[in-house]
Amino acid sequence: MASDRGKPKKRGATNGEFSLALKAEEKVRSTWYILDTDGRLVGVDKFDFSKCQNLKKFADYEIRKVRAYAKAPEHIRLMKRLNLVDYEPGSDAGNMRFYPNGRLIKSLLEKYVTDRVVGYGGMEVETPIMYDYQHPAFKDYLNRFPNRHYTVKSDNREFFLRFAACFGQFLIMHDMGMSYKQLPLKLYELSRYSFRREQGGELVGIKRMRAFTMPDMHTVCTDLKQAEAEFYSQFDLCVSVMDGIGIKMDEYETAIRFTEEFWERDKGFITHIVTDRLKKPALIEMWSFRYAYFDPKFEFNVIDSADKATSLSTVQVDHENSERYKVTYVDEDGKRRNSIILHCSPSGAIERVIYALLELAAIKINSGETASFPLWLASTQVRLLSVSDKHVGRCMELANGLVEIGIRADVDDTNETLDKKVRNAELEWVPYVAVIGDKEASTGELSVRRRDGKSQEKLSIERLIEEVTGKTAGMPKERSSLPMMLSKRPIFPG
Ligand SMILES: [Zn+2]
Repeated sequence: MASDRGKPKKRGATNGEFSLALKAEEKVRSTWYILDTDGRLVGVDKFDFSKCQNLKKFADYEIRKVRAYAKAPEHIRLMKRLNLVDYEPGSDAGNMRFYPNGRLIKSLLEKYVTDRVVGYGGMEVETPIMYDYQHPAFKDYLNRFPNRHYTVKSDNREFFLRFAACFGQFLIMHDMGMSYKQLPLKLYELSRYSFRREQGGELVGIKRMRAFTMPDMHTVCTDLKQAEAEFYSQFDLCVSVMDGIGIKMDEYETAIRFTEEFWERDKGFITHIVTDRLKKPALIEMWSFRYAYFDPKFEFNVIDSADKATSLSTVQVDHENSERYKVTYVDEDGKRRNSIILHCSPSGAIERVIYALLELAAIKINSGETASFPLWLASTQVRLLSVSDKHVGRCMELANGLVEIGIRADVDDTNETLDKKVRNAELEWVPYVAVIGDKEASTGELSVRRRDGKSQEKLSIERLIEEVTGKTAGMPKERSSLPMMLSKRPIFPG
């Protein structure tokens, strides 16, 4: 379960099914530290946070575990106002509806993360969303999270909806023939959807939902040594994927979690992450023993506008599931051996990435800065404003040309004043706005406003194209499914 942050919250044994795993979890003791850039482990209460306020917020959040929001986090207002996502009263809570602009952003993120994982060597598969309650391999999972899954009844059998893509991939791996020569071997699924029946009070906008889209990669390794090398390499993949999305390293905090036993055995493995890869301090949670399958794991966490943390990317070393699912390979001597499996989500749930982008935008707005999506994710990249009706034709011609080469352009052909059109584009965070009137139509020059610098400049259409394609190079492209003319767009509730 690649998205879990640290210990799942404890749940009451409402059905008498109190599992051994949950009991172990209650007994485990966590000790919190900061690992600094010199590789020193410092108690959280002794660390000087003056240069890392976000890390302090993160440590407070993790240690105090106050999860409830005093007021709705700001992404909820923004996701509605920007017509991206909304609640769906006709479904169960935490199952959301996506409007065209939300669907577009989600689709671009899905493509981006999938491309990156496939580029990394992940072989893409697709697995069922429901599984048989009676299958022996799931007993521990189901005990560990009693009452946390949706149940589907069909004839006389009961199924549960998956809460991660792990089982589906492990069942494939079990049936695959693997040689040590092919390892590390990676399977990947963009699970749409995984389901978790979070308790009602835990549901928060698109941060914590009951149905979500999770990029989920699992890597079969020969042994711990190979797993550790992969762990580093997947750490780098996570940093790079977040960077591509537009979330930079100074916008998230890292937690590394492991057992005392792991630390004693291989301190250097952990310290290297901070001193050589992260190069900024990380929060450490050290467990008194391994209460679940993972040891070690890390996650990247964003701190939102309400100072709450949410995990995104993660990699986890799994010591149990190779044996449970009999994920084996044939070694040099022809013997069948258990493997070590890594769980990795390079971005965390796609909905959460949108949550993070909106929350980071809200923090900017609150400090008086201009909020925007990264250009490659902007649902409209270039908006053409017609000064009057007679310029609509020229606007459409230009917009069609832009769309043909993969730039999302639309035309504000409404009867609003030019000022109002500009304001509307600002409200929608449109990064480039070009006005087309008599002068522009005759000279071929466009008067372009850039949202980032709020600058205004005369540009030829070729220069504008060059700028937009340059800034979105290498990122996925997708057309908007909305009509090009704003006058033809219906009003989505928000
Ligand atoms: Zn997994």
